Amino acid sequence: MARIVMKFGGTSVADIERIKNVANRVKREVESGNEVAVVVSAMSGVTNQLVAWCNQMAPLHDAREYDTVVATGEQVTTGLLAIALQELGLSARSWCGWQLPIHTDGVHGKARIMSIETAEMIERMGKGEVAVVAGFQGLGPDRRIATLGRGGSDTSAVALAAALKADRCDIYTDVDGVYTTDPRIVTKARKLDKITYEEMLELASVGAKVLQTRSVEMAMKHRVRVQVLSSFEDKPGTLVCDEDEIVEKELVSGIAYSRDEAKVTLVRVSDRPGVAAAIFGPLAEAAVNVDMIVQNVSEDGKSTDLTFTVGNADLERAKKVLEDHQGELGYAKLISDPNVVKVSVIGVGMRSHAGIAQKMFQTLASEGINIQVISTSEIKISVLIEEKYTELALRALHTAYGLDAA
Ligand code: ADP
Ligand code: ASP
Ligand code: MG
Repeated sequence: MARIVMKFGGTSVADIERIKNVANRVKREVESGNEVAVVVSAMSGVTNQLVAWCNQMAPLHDAREYDTVVATGEQVTTGLLAIALQELGLSARSWCGWQLPIHTDGVHGKARIMSIETAEMIERMGKGEVAVVAGFQGLGPDRRIATLGRGGSDTSAVALAAALKADRCDIYTDVDGVYTTDPRIVTKARKLDKITYEEMLELASVGAKVLQTRSVEMAMKHRVRVQVLSSFEDKPGTLVCDEDEIVEKELVSGIAYSRDEAKVTLVRVSDRPGVAAAIFGPLAEAAVNVDMIVQNVSEDGKSTDLTFTVGNADLERAKKVLEDHQGELGYAKLISDPNVVKVSVIGVGMRSHAGIAQKMFQTLASEGINIQVISTSEIKISVLIEEKYTELALRALHTAYGLDAA
């Protein structure tokens, strides 16, 4: 007997028929003698609608009330799946985040899971009851609902698997595994049988939304065996595992993109010690994550231009913070551009091979695509380009690195 966590994303629970399909999959696992906890997302499109309503009510809204609104989608699907399971003759109950509870920190809208109380759930699972848990939500220290950031149900599932010491955490989604790049954009993308935690972490953190970044961090930390697989077809998916389980290592394992980027340029910032801290300090306090940064050499030794990227959703807040501090920062002008995309190439092979970045720059140049910002890490190169070139850039790079499926 094994203990497993199964997670179903939005498209997998998009309507009544699909929830019945999920219930049948769960039933199969129960009938093979496993203890099962299921984590569900909201029906696809629902969370987007809830977020849009909050923004329509007020662009800069109370994050606690945002959480109250956006967490509701998952409550619906837990109840419906529990009913579907009961209809199949199984014992099942739904759990909201606050009922277990799943304890989080107090950062509403982007909360982190701190711990999960599992005693009652384990006892009930031991008696054959399927636990149906709402993803994406938990209980903050202020005793209010907190959500985990978009795509957070993956993290709920992995955290639950770690807390339950589950043998497996199966992430069921609308693609049958992790590919070399988004298969919806590049039809020649190739499915990977296995991927290392490290590479998956990089891919996720630069935009491959097939798994939320924090879910991979958590899986890596607690050594949870995560599998990504299709909820519509019965075929093997992709296993996320340790490097030593992978025999054939590729130089480049994947390419990802993120449209969720906005570029901010501060023109003529005074070039003195402490100015970067003065800019990024207040942004950090306002919980704005800054990603890529470039600072130009100052020609006159007095002022310089500073360009950086923030998440699209944080752009308004970032602008407001910077405008509020314009007096101290003394920049001449703030320019912002949301029509950018970050394209990243990932591979552990970069540690030992030169020329991978050069190939990226050459490939983009030959397509006439201008690079606006570059950043690198040990196993990743990212470039910021105009959004309209997303597909062209992905396809060209995928071919250039020899990743195309045969
Ligand atoms: P769910 O609702 O099941 O959580 P998501 O939409 O969050 O599903 O994630 C699955 C999507 O991730 C796929 O439909 C695919 O378009 C996208 N995706 C992006 N990059 C990749 C990749 N490298 N491999 C597989 N899917 C990817
Ligand atoms: N429903 C949430 C979202 O759309 C969480 C998730 O699906 O993982 O972001
Ligand atoms: Mg998702």
